[in-house]
Amino acid sequence: MDTEITTSTSEAGIEMTHIRKGAMTIGLPSAGVTTYDEFLATAHARFGEDPVAWAFLCPNCGDIATGADFGAAEGRGRLGQECIGNTVEERGCDWAAYGLFAGPCAVVMPDGEVIFTFRLAPRGAVSTPMLRAAKAGAR
Ligand SMILES: [Zn+2]
Repeated sequence: MDTEITTSTSEAGIEMTHIRKGAMTIGLPSAGVTTYDEFLATAHARFGEDPVAWAFLCPNCGDIATGADFGAAEGRGRLGQECIGNTVEERGCDWAAYGLFAGPCAVVMPDGEVIFTFRLAPRGAVSTPMLRAAKAGAR
């Protein structure tokens, strides 16, 4: 699918990136749009080189899921693109970064294709069940 990327500045002074895929155009604040190299550099600096340790924040329910939470390699392909709730029952929700409300981030691949993603979790973030266990242990 042909993807076209343009930028503009909103009336509020926010730089916006407009991603057109086919008949659909998605506008995202440019701060959330990175190249693949920039994305990898950020993920590596925050969580190391192994995607098993990368953590993403679901923009809908606030769950933090890691590559390890997704388990098998085919599940890990959903990391950062789908809430863990699509894979693990009774956890998270069914939100997807490629859904009706795309994003909130986007990664521009070397071939020009755009992948919509969740935001990387903050440095040091662990998955929601690990957080829950740590809080229970602290009592
Ligand atoms: Zn969710």
